[in-house]
Amino acid sequence: MATLLARGVDRKIARMREFAESLLQAGDEPVRAGSLDQLEALDRSLLRMAGQTRTLVERAKLESARREAILSSMVEGVLAVDDQLRVTFCNQALARLAGTRMPGVGTPLMELVRDVALQETLADVIRTGEPAKRNLHIPVSSSGRSFELQAAPLITGNKPGDKPGAIAILHDITDLERLERIRNDFVANVSHEFRTPLAAISGYAETLLDGALEDPQHNRRFLEIINSNAIRLSNIAADLLTLSELQTGAPKDIEPIPVADALESALSTVAAEASRRGVSIERGNFENVTVSGSRYRLEQALVNLLANAVKFNRPGGSVRAESLRNGTEVRIVISDTGVGIPSNDLPRIFERFYRVDKGRSREVGGTGLGLSIVKHIVERMHGSVSATSQLGKGSAFTVTLPLA
Ligand code: ADP
Repeated sequence: MATLLARGVDRKIARMREFAESLLQAGDEPVRAGSLDQLEALDRSLLRMAGQTRTLVERAKLESARREAILSSMVEGVLAVDDQLRVTFCNQALARLAGTRMPGVGTPLMELVRDVALQETLADVIRTGEPAKRNLHIPVSSSGRSFELQAAPLITGNKPGDKPGAIAILHDITDLERLERIRNDFVANVSHEFRTPLAAISGYAETLLDGALEDPQHNRRFLEIINSNAIRLSNIAADLLTLSELQTGAPKDIEPIPVADALESALSTVAAEASRRGVSIERGNFENVTVSGSRYRLEQALVNLLANAVKFNRPGGSVRAESLRNGTEVRIVISDTGVGIPSNDLPRIFERFYRVDKGRSREVGGTGLGLSIVKHIVERMHGSVSATSQLGKGSAFTVTLPLA
C-alpha cells in the first residue's frame, strides 16, 4: 500500500514538475529526473522558476519606470480613457495644461477637461476604431490655449470581450499659432508698405510716358515724387535687412564703446536735420563710461532715437541728450519737446511698422521700423529701452545698458 501511495504521489510530483518546466522559458535545459528523485527535481524547477519570475518582475518594473519617466518628461499631454470616457491614465503635462491636479483613475474626462470637442473626438475614436486628428481651443487659462489633438484607439486587456478605450496626445500650439499670426501679419505689413510707394512710382512714370514728359511745368515734380518713393522703398528694404540681421546669428564686432563718444557722433549725424527744422540740441551730462557691443549698431540706435526726437518736434522745440551712470549700468536719455505720444499708443511704438500718425511718419520719411531696430540693438547688448510721453508736451526715451 505504501508503495502504491508513493507511486501516486510520485506521479503527481512529476506532473507538477512538468508544469513548472513548461512555465520556464523555452530553451532552458529541463531538470532530468533520472538520477534525482522527483522531489529534488521539483525543488530545483521551482527554484529556477522563482529566479526567472523575479527577473521578469524586475524587468517589468524597470520597463514601467522607464515608460513613466518618458511620459512625465513629455511636454505633450498624454491621456488614456476607457470606453466610458473615464480617465485611466494622465501624465503631469496634461494635468498642467488642464490646470488641475493629477486626476485619480476613473475620473470622468469631463471633470478633467471641460471640452465637448475633446469628448466627441475620443468617443468617435472608440466607436469607429479609427485614429483622429484635430485642433482644439480649450479654455484652460483666461484666454484659452490651442492644442493639436491626436487620438487613437487603445486596447488594454486581451480578453475577447474587452472594450477598447482611447489614447490622446495634446500638443500645445498656442505659441506656434501666435508666431504664425505674427509672421502672416508681418508679410501683410511688408507687402502693404511696399505697395504704396510702388503704386506712386508706376503711376507717375505712366503719366510721364503718356505725355507729361514734354510738360515742363510738371515733369520735374513727377520725377521728384518717383525719386522720393524709390528712396522710401530702399529705406524700408534697408531697415528690414537690419532687423533680419539683428534677429539671426550671434552679435558681431563686439568692442568696448565709450558712451559719450557714441552719443557725440550720433548727435553730429542729426545736427544738420535739426537745424533745418529749427530744433535746438541740448547736451546734458555725458558720463564717460564704456559699454560693450557693436559701436556701429549702438550709434544706429541713438541716431534713430535722436532723429525721431527731431522729426516729431516743432520749430523752436528742443532735443536733449544725456548719459547717466547708475551703479553697474548707464542710462542714456533722449528727450524732446515734441508732439508727444498718446498713452494708449505708447506700449506699441516698439512694434514693427507701428506708427501713431501714419501720414506724419511718411511725410518725415519714416518706415515705422526705427524703434523696433532700437529695441533689438539694445536687447542684443543685454539692455532695455523704455519710453514716457506727454501728449503735446514731449517724450523721453531711456536706453539702459550694462557697463562693460
Ligand atoms: P518711424 O519710422 O515712423 O519714425 P519708429 O519705429 O521710429 O518709426 O517710430 C514709431 C512711431 O512712434 C512713430 O511713427 C511715431 O508715431 C512715434 N514716435 C517715435 N518717436 C517719437 C517721438 N520722439 N515723439 C513722438 N512720437 C514718436
